[in-house]
Amino acid sequence: MQRKDFIDVKRIVIKLGTNVLRNDDGEIAVSRIYSFIEGIAKLVKAGKEVIVVTSGAVGLGKKKLNLDSTDGDGVKQACAAIGQSRLMSYYETGFATYEIPVAQILLTEDDFSTRHRYLSLRTTLNKLIEMNVVPIINQNDTVSTIELDDILAGMQVCFSDNDKLSALVSSELDADLLILLSDIDGLYTANPKENPDAEFIKEVECVNDEILELGSGASDGGRGGMKTKLEAAKLVTRFGGKVLIANGKIPYVIDKIFNAEELGTMFIPTSENLSGRKRWIGYATNVLGKIIVNEGAKKAIIENCTSLLPIGIVKVINEFKQGEVVSICDENEVEIARGMVNYDSEECKKLVGAHSDEIIKILGYKNYDAVITRDNITNLV
Ligand code: GLU
Repeated sequence: MQRKDFIDVKRIVIKLGTNVLRNDDGEIAVSRIYSFIEGIAKLVKAGKEVIVVTSGAVGLGKKKLNLDSTDGDGVKQACAAIGQSRLMSYYETGFATYEIPVAQILLTEDDFSTRHRYLSLRTTLNKLIEMNVVPIINQNDTVSTIELDDILAGMQVCFSDNDKLSALVSSELDADLLILLSDIDGLYTANPKENPDAEFIKEVECVNDEILELGSGASDGGRGGMKTKLEAAKLVTRFGGKVLIANGKIPYVIDKIFNAEELGTMFIPTSENLSGRKRWIGYATNVLGKIIVNEGAKKAIIENCTSLLPIGIVKVINEFKQGEVVSICDENEVEIARGMVNYDSEECKKLVGAHSDEIIKILGYKNYDAVITRDNITNLV
């Protein structure tokens, strides 16, 4: 895709990673953050709608207290509370120079997982954008439960880093473009720090398993890395959004991107265009329950997008209620899809392997032939 077409967009989510917001000594990179603000202000003045997702709170809090590490109960959460207000004061002051109001929004997994909160968040964000305010979003690390492993044993949380959060925000707001700015130039065929033969990839047409394989571990500082960026790219491109991963340390990077300079890796939208509801089912909610399906059901779901009937179920894991989203896995427990169930886990256990016309005999009632109806299934492979 031509650069000028790629950047011809209206609604943009820009995610700024910890490593571009602070210098090597851990202090905030003041001139860089002001340069981002200047770049974003120009976009806003040009009539674009911009939403910022910012990291950096934990790192700034840690620096403020001169801590060597954030290990220990509540330390990271405390650092986030200290750093967040510092971080926000830079955005507030910087955008005020351009007479652009900002709004702070701190989010946890529950704000996405609970459908009515998700919808209410969407309304608020859209209202802020309509009022020409730039929303500045971060994970609410101080109250987020993702660090509390015992509470979440076995649960797949909808996000635990700001890369995924920015993808969920993009999806929720139907953004045209997500820009992930970190300290890497984009995607390479191998880790360039370890492999001198690594080649730069300018454009990705489909975030398939091969591309996902190219993601390596977390980068220092923030929680994300190439892996979470590629997962974010997969989500956004599936609903028709574009994604750019670029190096935020390039001076005036935002200006350069919108001057159509060839930097970063572009991810092209797929033609799939998932509906808002399917996006929410597939990506935006925490998932605990699992339904294991046989090969026939797996094939039918993946290839023909069918409903899940009781006869295809092999096993039911964990508790869930009717209306909750569960993970649909193959017999190797590899997740292939997610879906909103018509029956709760106890009922599903009784229905394992049954014909749909036996449901009434087994449960004493029947509302649906399918355990998950096709409109409520989002394929993940
Ligand atoms: N929310 C974290 C912070 O503000 C960063 C999380 C991330 O980098 O993904 O420090």
